[in-house]
Amino acid sequence: MLSPRYHREIPQRYRLEAGKCTGCGKIHFPPRSVCKECGGRAFEMEKLPSKGKVLTCTTVEIPPAEFDDQKPYVNAIVELENGVRLTCMVAEAPPDEVDVGTEVELVFRRLRCGREWEVLQYGYKAVVV
Ligand SMILES: [Zn+2]
Repeated sequence: MLSPRYHREIPQRYRLEAGKCTGCGKIHFPPRSVCKECGGRAFEMEKLPSKGKVLTCTTVEIPPAEFDDQKPYVNAIVELENGVRLTCMVAEAPPDEVDVGTEVELVFRRLRCGREWEVLQYGYKAVVV
């Protein structure tokens, strides 16, 4: 069963908040406790931009069981407008519509479900804009 607390925490877990070093300005996602650029330990929260473009991508034809209902799908490294890079699935697009340079936007979606998972899991995916 899903608890009310679990529901309340979902937006906090997935609201794409990064840590910006107050010493050198480097943005870390996910946030770190020590800056890998300058060794600083002070950060301020920075909301990541939702838009970016595909740096590289690959089509997954034979996924793990919990993603089987979504195959084939594209996994991409996306560079956001502020230069932060992250890996995510590209949703709602046939693999031949996604390539290097494709402009995408991060959205909140169901990630996976299946017999092994008691609850649906949610997080961010990219969609073509
Ligand atoms: Zn720093």
